[in-house]
Amino acid sequence: MTSDTGVLDVDALFEAAAAVRERAYAPYSQFKVGAAIRGAGGGLHVGCNVENAAYPSGTCAEEAAIAAMIAAGETRIAAIAVLGSGDTPVTPCGACRQRIREFGAPTTAIHAGCAGGARRSLVLEGLLPHAFGPDLLARAAEP
Ligand SMILES: [Zn+2]
Repeated sequence: MTSDTGVLDVDALFEAAAAVRERAYAPYSQFKVGAAIRGAGGGLHVGCNVENAAYPSGTCAEEAAIAAMIAAGETRIAAIAVLGSGDTPVTPCGACRQRIREFGAPTTAIHAGCAGGARRSLVLEGLLPHAFGPDLLARAAEP
């Protein structure tokens, strides 16, 4: 295994995201998304989007991958790859940016990709500047 920022690991994350994306349940939008997280402890956690006839009940791929990470006993995201449909790299939605912030850091790598093959690598701070996170609650609890 390479470091979380290594090119080989980015490829591995996209491979895992592509595999789980095939299992996405997206009968309404046809927009399948797969996400793969490299946990700070080295674990690989994947998730796909799961739509619902009652649309707001659907869940995001990143959300599912984070749940898998927590279920596996890891709590820190070193890097995440998100692979969506179309020709434009897919970045996490606003709610998922906040979810990633809970378990990541401003410098957490977010690799966005799409079925068309284009990729873009960003960090969380670029997608969610001046984010609210658990560290702020900890500071508020101090005397
Ligand atoms: Zn989302």
